[in-house]
Amino acid sequence: MNILVVEDERNLADAIVHILENASCHAEACYDGRVGLRSALSGAFDAVVLDVMLPGMDGREVVHELRRRGSSVPVLMLTARTSTQDKVEGLDAGADDYMTKPFEAPELLARLRALTRRRGDVMLDEVTFADVRLDLATHDLSCGEASVHLSGKEFEVMSILMGSSSRVVSKQDLLSRVWGGSEASENSVEAYVSFLRKKLAHIGSKVQITTLRMLGYRLEVFSE
Ligand code: CA
Repeated sequence: MNILVVEDERNLADAIVHILENASCHAEACYDGRVGLRSALSGAFDAVVLDVMLPGMDGREVVHELRRRGSSVPVLMLTARTSTQDKVEGLDAGADDYMTKPFEAPELLARLRALTRRRGDVMLDEVTFADVRLDLATHDLSCGEASVHLSGKEFEVMSILMGSSSRVVSKQDLLSRVWGGSEASENSVEAYVSFLRKKLAHIGSKVQITTLRMLGYRLEVFSE
């Protein structure tokens, strides 16, 4: 599956490309509306992730122009605002779905899966890191033939770690992304990381969750 990402915030564009590559997709970023339109029209992409606010040409114009020229490539629009007006205009212009920033990797993959499923293309069903696979539908974590089910929170923590590849994710970041504004403390994060470590060991994976003091966690691959 080949996905075009049109987003001028380079950090976000690169993060999305990263998420997609971890989900075994090929992804390409461009940072300008006009360039994005040209690439999307090339027919080389199975779906387009398109920001609304872009230099050159805004996202609504890009999708309007794509449809006017007969392209039916699925478009997932990104909006920084939660305003209904923004979403309505995006959908009216011909986008298939929209997503509000910030978002989590599983949501992006789920929405793209829904869009491309409609076209009968390959689906984004799992994310991988080294020898482990995380099934986004069943929440099963597998290594070879071994597999274990993850609870809701374990799944969210694991998908953030896998989506970040080998980069460090802070405890605070996990706390706010997984537990939101709830009462949870850093002890909860530690507890879930410890559950995940046991499950990774249980399925015989070489992947370990390493603690970096004062910084947070990251996935590393250990060979015996
Ligand atoms: Ca933008």
